[in-house]
Amino acid sequence: MKSILITGANGGIGQACARAFLADHPENQVFLGCRNGRAGAETVVQAFPGQARVLALDVTSAVSWDDAVAEIMRETGRVDVLINNAGTHQDGLLATMATEHWDEVIATCLTGTFLGCRAVVKMMMRQRFGRIINVASLSALLAPAGQTNYAAAKAGVVALTQSLAKETARAGITVNAICPGYIRTDALGSDPAALTEWAQRVPARRLGTPEEVAGLAMYLAGELAGYVTGSVIKMDGGIL
Ligand code: NDP
Repeated sequence: MKSILITGANGGIGQACARAFLADHPENQVFLGCRNGRAGAETVVQAFPGQARVLALDVTSAVSWDDAVAEIMRETGRVDVLINNAGTHQDGLLATMATEHWDEVIATCLTGTFLGCRAVVKMMMRQRFGRIINVASLSALLAPAGQTNYAAAKAGVVALTQSLAKETARAGITVNAICPGYIRTDALGSDPAALTEWAQRVPARRLGTPEEVAGLAMYLAGELAGYVTGSVIKMDGGIL
């Protein structure tokens, strides 16, 4: 049995990760961290009664992290897997970027990941076991124009991942980053022309699926990945 916390779990990739871990083992307990929206996460909970629950978790708030982790500890006594998946983007050229858009993206993607890792790492050290999976982005590696805030935040997540992996490896904890390319979720919007255009830019000629990201997360959380840490794994249909 594993106790698993997924942030941004109302979104496409978060829901897919939750379903994958729940289907993997009937004793897994999955906590779906949600900020505002909960409808998608609730459908996962309904599909796996007794195995999953929604938790209030705004990743930008240290207090919210403390409350969420305390609740999980009361329920299961441990957190085995943390998936720092919550994210947001506010694209635009730097010359006209509002400070609020810079701050929001850094707070959610980078500070949120820092706060999440800090909220669980001491306890994982005591357990002598932990799997931290940070959902970064291909933008961390490609740094496209129009995404200075998002690319910087996600590149920060990559560096945090590599640094924390070195701090925790001896305690049986792995810390890895996934860098997805175009994955078909609400984050890409729903304009069919734009989706088709993006798919044409991908050597694989299609968008990735949230289930494919979840499959990689499952691998990184599993027994066979115990020697994989500090790794940055892109999943982009061959773009980079
Ligand atoms: P979604 O927009 O479907 O989901 C993102 C989720 O993050 C939403 O549920 C949102 O909550 C949540 N969130 C945003 N801010 C906060 C916050 N402060 N606290 C808690 N939750 C928050 O997008 P994806 O599922 O596609 O994205 C998941 C991750 O994957 C993100 O980190 C994203 O950057 C990354 N990614 C996605 C790619 C893609 O092509 N889809 C490509 C590369 C990376 P709410 O419902 O309340 O708004």
